[in-house]
Amino acid sequence: MRRASRIDARRLLGWLTLALAVGLLLYTASAWARPGGGHTYSGGSSRSSSSRSSGGHSGGGGDGDAAGLIFQLILLCIQYPALGVPLLLIVVAFFVVKAIIGAGQKGWSTTTPDVQAVERVEDGETAARVGRAELDTIRALDPGFSLVLFEDLVYMLYAAVLRGRAIGTQALAAYLEPNLGHSLVDPQLSDVQGIVIGAMRYVRFSGTQSPMLEIEIEIESNYVEVLRAGGSRRFYAVDRVVLTRAATARSRAKARSHTLDCPNCGAPLEAVRGTECSYCRQNVGFGRFDWMIAGFSNQSRETRGPLLTSDVAETGTELPTIVDRGAPQRFEELSRKDPAVSWQALQGRVALIFAELQIAWSGREPLKIRPFVSDNLFQSLYYWIDLYTQQRCRNISENATILRIDLANVLSDASFDAITLRIFARNIDYTVSDDGKLLSGHRSRPRTYSEYWTLIRGSARRGEPRRDNNCPNCGAPLAISMTGQCEYCRVKVTSGDFDWVLSRIEQDESYGG
Ligand SMILES: [Zn+2]
Ligand SMILES: [Zn+2]
Repeated sequence: MRRASRIDARRLLGWLTLALAVGLLLYTASAWARPGGGHTYSGGSSRSSSSRSSGGHSGGGGDGDAAGLIFQLILLCIQYPALGVPLLLIVVAFFVVKAIIGAGQKGWSTTTPDVQAVERVEDGETAARVGRAELDTIRALDPGFSLVLFEDLVYMLYAAVLRGRAIGTQALAAYLEPNLGHSLVDPQLSDVQGIVIGAMRYVRFSGTQSPMLEIEIEIESNYVEVLRAGGSRRFYAVDRVVLTRAATARSRAKARSHTLDCPNCGAPLEAVRGTECSYCRQNVGFGRFDWMIAGFSNQSRETRGPLLTSDVAETGTELPTIVDRGAPQRFEELSRKDPAVSWQALQGRVALIFAELQIAWSGREPLKIRPFVSDNLFQSLYYWIDLYTQQRCRNISENATILRIDLANVLSDASFDAITLRIFARNIDYTVSDDGKLLSGHRSRPRTYSEYWTLIRGSARRGEPRRDNNCPNCGAPLAISMTGQCEYCRVKVTSGDFDWVLSRIEQDESYGG
């Protein structure tokens, strides 16, 4: 009897250790450091070991581990009910408290009834993905539609709405569902600053059959809320945005793609009173002429800073590459349009950008990568590099080598050609403090990883992708300002109008085609 109980005690100790370990696992959410893309914006918790972490942000990655824990506990309840049942109750109480705290952190959330219905279905689930090729079908209705420009508009609208929560949304009436405007505003805020968008994923697309097109997008971002009462707080957020537009509307010209103005005639936004434009005399709201935000909801947000110094196992590298069915054919068409764009020449360009990215990242010199990346990607890279500088540490990538490049997708529209490649690479990756202490990673053990890179170039441009560090316009050695202009010829080389620039880096588990 006594002997049996001693075994029980030892087993109990084992079970408790297991419970503790899993509990810890739930809380040691971590960010994988890697040049440019390994981070997420939700405070690092989404890159947990969960293989379906792509949709499970902000602690959601722990759900799989939680299920394992509960399974083990049920097992314990059957084998040793006297020990298992109380332990199960403690764990259940823990999760209830955690859920209540989590609900309290949600902060703000505003959606149209439509959107709420969608959320109920998908809440807590990995969202279904809509591939970009599917959205590209909008071009059948609207030949000027460009995904690159659409995503720029989404970034711009998203940032405007976040700021509108503090400074009011009246000026955005043409771009907002009317009921949304009021409910978004938070009177406690005096401003929202430092908005950086980390990633966006397409969750739902209503198709081109209905009179109103509808696209739901999940956006990871971070931003600083400045409070009227004084002080500020930084958030890492995952938001869902629903955009809608009349199927009959036509996309704005590329030249207007970086300003919010009258959706119909392009008059300054001040000319639009309510949803009526005083220039063109049209009601320009309700998505009649351009995309409008019809739903905006916060999925999760947290003030906790990103963890720059912990490791997590690489996930997804072994998964097959998501290749769009039409990609090889569209690559051939692109090469026919411009024979200088060969697979080999493109690989040369990628190798250059890859090498420059390692240098910029490890050396915390964001300007080094500026000539090769789009504005949005640069903002995000700059944000991370700056964060390392602030935290007095450095993520070093050494001996980085590209092992293989797969073609994943090619999309060409009236404004841009976009090529998505999956890059398999190996490097030595570790983080050190400025005084030389190793904080994470290994100084000698190489690591293999993969990610999806999207390069874009203006569709009118022809010529061989540059593999050297010279201006694609004037040929001078590259000296590029923060805003992307060549210091000699002053053209903006990062717009993609001159050569292929990197516009997105997506992780294996995040890429949806
Ligand atoms: Zn107008
Ligand atoms: Zn130049």
